Amino acid sequence: MIGWSNALASGLMLGVAYALMISGLDGSAMSVGGGALLGVFIVYVTHALTGTADLDLNRLDEKAEKYGYQVILVNTLHAAHEGVAIGAAMAVSLPLGVLAALALAVHNIPEATILSAVLTNRGVRLRDAAVLSIATNVNQVMLALVIFSIVLVAPAFLPWALGYAVGALIYLVMVELLPESYHQAGHTSIAMVTLVAMGIVVLARAWTGH
Ligand SMILES: [Zn+2]
Repeated sequence: MIGWSNALASGLMLGVAYALMISGLDGSAMSVGGGALLGVFIVYVTHALTGTADLDLNRLDEKAEKYGYQVILVNTLHAAHEGVAIGAAMAVSLPLGVLAALALAVHNIPEATILSAVLTNRGVRLRDAAVLSIATNVNQVMLALVIFSIVLVAPAFLPWALGYAVGALIYLVMVELLPESYHQAGHTSIAMVTLVAMGIVVLARAWTGH
């Protein structure tokens, strides 16, 4: 279940990244590319600074005290990058913003479920684990509003914000979600769940009229 939850979250994130990339490339491709490089770089730096570059996020049996805090920190930073994606999508259009917010809200469920499972296995009460899982996503809403407001004032920032979200989301999927999921479920099923979830967002994007 943890493997498939990760695959589901991965697919939804990749779908949102695709939707944002297409919207960004309608305009300035160079700015989107620059933003994507920046997004990858910032995620890399936050991993390096927090010592979480190669941290497995699903170690249910990990006993080290530090691990619980690291997992919460990584999930909080992860959610922040997704807030940029929602804010940038909102700035493109309301339907695209709603699609990104919906897809990432749904994807927060499997991600929060995995985090709760790790925390409850470490002796955290279920209610506290649920509250912590929700708390890690509060900054997502705040960053979405910040990015949306910045783009309203400075529209030239939009392709950079879109690119940033694309780079960050894809990098997060590749370093945080997919590697460990392949250890927990069959390769084929992980690929299928990921691709179907991505495909649903890609198709839904067509319905937003973009
Ligand atoms: Zn995510």
